This record gives sequence, C-alpha cells and structure tokens, in this order.
Amino acid sequence: MTTDTTQEQECVFCSIIAGDLPSDTVYRDDQVIAIKDNNPQAPIHVLIITREHNLESLNDASRLDASLLGHALYTAAKVANQMGIAESGYRVVVNTGEKAGQSVPHLHLHVLGGRNLAWPPG
Ligand code: 5GP
Ligand code: ZN
Repeated sequence: MTTDTTQEQECVFCSIIAGDLPSDTVYRDDQVIAIKDNNPQAPIHVLIITREHNLESLNDASRLDASLLGHALYTAAKVANQMGIAESGYRVVVNTGEKAGQSVPHLHLHVLGGRNLAWPPG
C-alpha cells in the first residue's frame, strides 16, 4: 500500500528521493538530500532538497518548519565545504514562485560556486 499523493508521485524530486529516478547524490540525512543539478549553472551546482514534499516553496513554511529550514541552510554550508568552494565563495539561492523562475514545486536550495557570480542576479 502506498500513501503517496498524486502530487508526490508526479514530483521529480520525490521520485529521486524514492530512488525511482537516478541522481548524483553528494550528501543525505534524515531531513534532506543533496544532489548535483542535472543542468548546472556553475561548475558546482548542488540542490539541497527537503525529504518531505509538504513544503512546495518557502511560501508554505510556518514557524514549525524553522528547524528544517535552518538544517537545510546549514547543510548548504556543509556541502559547499565538501565540494571545495567554501573558501572561494558560493551562493545559496531559493527560487520562490513564478517570477523567481521556480520550476520544481518541492522546496530546495541551490548551492552555486566555482566561478564568479554576477550581482545583481538576472
Ligand atoms: P528551480 O527552477 O525550481 O529553482 O530549480 C529546479 C532545479 O532542478 C533546476 O536547476 C533543474 O535543472 C533541476 N532539475 C530538474 N529536474 C532534475 C532532475 O531530474 N535531476 C536533477 N539532478 N536536477 C533536476
Ligand atoms: Zn516532491
């Protein structure tokens, strides 16, 4: 028996977390997984993905999610260190909603580094 909702079944990140789609995983724990983005926008481009589908974006977060959000951000720093970009510098991005270009409605952080990153972003 499965308790997955249709939304989760159709979600690319849920499929990766379930092991139904392949990914290049660089870190995992009980709350998040980190995978290499398959369309990298920088030499290092890792996604920190929350394991549960309950938050589609930051807009869904409540006070109860503060610990998970903090853990995801901490994991971004840990992964940046692991990938060797902590010292040179990196950017953590959370695209939220249509105008920010969010394309996968399952909360995730981008960790980008390994090149000079322009500011302001496009
Ligand atoms: P968003 O546009 O929602 O901020 O970021 C979604 C990211 O997920 C994009 O950078 C996109 O390249 C990445 N992505 C989409 N599908 C897959 C996939 O199947 N595998 C991996 N590794 N990354 C994906
Ligand atoms: Zn999902």
